[in-house]
Amino acid sequence: MLISPKWRDRSAGIERRRERARRTFPRLRQGGRGGFTPRDMAKVYFYYSAMNAGKSTVLLQSSYNYRERGMHTLLFVPAIDTRAGVGRIESRIGLHADAMPLAADENIFAHVKAAHAAQPVACVLVDEAQFLTRAQVEQLTDVSDALGIPVLCYGLRTDFQGQLFPGSAALLALADDLTELKTICHCGRKATMNLRVGPDGRGVKVGAQVEIGGNDRYVAMCRRHYKEALGHTP
Ligand SMILES: [Zn+2]
Repeated sequence: MLISPKWRDRSAGIERRRERARRTFPRLRQGGRGGFTPRDMAKVYFYYSAMNAGKSTVLLQSSYNYRERGMHTLLFVPAIDTRAGVGRIESRIGLHADAMPLAADENIFAHVKAAHAAQPVACVLVDEAQFLTRAQVEQLTDVSDALGIPVLCYGLRTDFQGQLFPGSAALLALADDLTELKTICHCGRKATMNLRVGPDGRGVKVGAQVEIGGNDRYVAMCRRHYKEALGHTP
């Protein structure tokens, strides 16, 4: 492809302006989308979805993006989730990473503050964030506001009965930025509900909110098919 001299001049001009901006705003030097975040811009992000939308995959990719640039990240997972072994984040497509397991009574702010003092932390990432307590979500807002570290949380919005999880309720209330990760129902519509299925393959209406027994016990569905599967008729 031929590059016209006119275009070359223009791109040289863009580069000159970029260089000028880098001198004027030195904090943006390491910048770029998803990269260095100035302290006063740190936010709490909540990426929510139904089951099997690829949350762990997106989390591991985000962490990798930081580490690729030589930045340090901290990964957490509530200890309630032992599917992948305590303190391990595993995605369905085969990616995995070690994470710090977090019990319900543990202070996540204290963990991050101590780690940050030893080695600067560029980003905190939490998988299965629906299992966080309200107090832990508040502690994560302190990680953002007091330490200036961005916090990325990934989790389910609702349980098999269509009720918010405690961690999700707190994140929906307190996070700066809400993003839905989408997956689809067998009909092709967006899946927003999680049907729990019994050994007979039929939908389950009652039971404990937390019953971690493998992803195969849940089917992500659109609301209409979720209601049909549970025999809800108006
Ligand atoms: Zn459907």
